Amino acid sequence: MDTKILSTPFPKKDPYGSLAMPVYHTAAYEFETAHEMEDAFTGRTSEFVYSRIANPTVTNYENRVKAITEAQNVLAFNSGMAAISGAVITLAWNGCNIVTSPHLFGNTYSFFASTLKAFGVEARFCDMTNVQEVESKIDSNTCAIFLEIITNPQMEVADLKAISEVCRKQNVPLIADTTVIPFTHFRAKNFGVDIEIVSSTKYISGGATSLGGLVIDYGTWGGATSQKLKDVPEAENSTRFFTKIFREIHRNLGAFMTPETAYLQTIGLETTSLRYEKEAKSCKKIAEKLQRHSEIVAVHYPALNNKIANEQFGEYSGAMFTFDVKTREKAFEFIDRLKLIRRATNLFDNKSLAIHPASTIFGTFTDEMRKKMDVKDTTIRISVGLEGEEDIYDDIVQAL
Ligand SMILES: *Cc1c(COP(=O)(O)O)cnc(C)c1O
Repeated sequence: MDTKILSTPFPKKDPYGSLAMPVYHTAAYEFETAHEMEDAFTGRTSEFVYSRIANPTVTNYENRVKAITEAQNVLAFNSGMAAISGAVITLAWNGCNIVTSPHLFGNTYSFFASTLKAFGVEARFCDMTNVQEVESKIDSNTCAIFLEIITNPQMEVADLKAISEVCRKQNVPLIADTTVIPFTHFRAKNFGVDIEIVSSTKYISGGATSLGGLVIDYGTWGGATSQKLKDVPEAENSTRFFTKIFREIHRNLGAFMTPETAYLQTIGLETTSLRYEKEAKSCKKIAEKLQRHSEIVAVHYPALNNKIANEQFGEYSGAMFTFDVKTREKAFEFIDRLKLIRRATNLFDNKSLAIHPASTIFGTFTDEMRKKMDVKDTTIRISVGLEGEEDIYDDIVQAL
């Protein structure tokens, strides 16, 4: 896998033999003849036409992700939210519903509960750890099941294989936001995920250089029974879903990844697996040790005590953990006293980051909504970076 990340060739030979994929900073592409233009514009050839549709630097990045994940198709967006909204808009229609959990990234929750609602899409929130409940929410108008593999900050883990079986039986696609564990280490396809979504802003960018999102289609959900997609023509190397998102939705929403971002994230991709290994190892050790601290009420890191997490993710469940202190005031004091760990949102930067989710990411939600989402006033979230593990631990202990 590490070799594939580094040696996926360019789609075309670069005229100067550039070793790194150049940043093709252009809006449009020139043709020799009217016939060539017709072929490219109508999709008979895959020549580049216009950078809102495709760009060589971005395609190279997508191809590398495709090689690593062994997906059928990959499409890059300009943020994780653009990837989520693009994928769901591709599947949804007025009158449909999407079955999901109330434990979601804040903007994803708001996208389902508010943005989509205005277009006649009902979000059916349920407990993803209860497979019977999930199945009971599905009906002939369900466009997809959407979940996050480890919810944040609740750190809940659903049984993906069990949910995927329900999806197969009911002919609905399983969409998983896998941002919290990179695809270099978590093989979503092996757990029945049909469409994987990643905020590449996080692990892949690494240095927090850029925003990006990926839609990774494993080609396992055909869409022949979908009210929305059944009329999209079937193609040999593309599902109906991918044809629709690539040929229509992505272009119309204009949420394309820029070549600069693709360049930065291709560099990030080359070291994602290495960085993840160090960060996840430090994270587990720190979380383990903090369980015994008298100021901490509870530590949440699924790999420490969750059987399903161990089966799905192996030894480590990402490089983020949360813990609860005794009061909201103590949580604020903790954040203020940090010396090494940065006070910032974002995840999986090379630098360790700390945040109090209830007052920040979920700060504009009402108390009642936070309660529904199980976002507690006493929870701190730590994203573990590449600093020395002892230094990160010591900073947490002195701040406690
Ligand atoms: C950050 C994040 C997103 C959104 O990604 P952006 O790149 O910020 O748009 C979605 N899901 C999860 C789990 C995230 O952590």
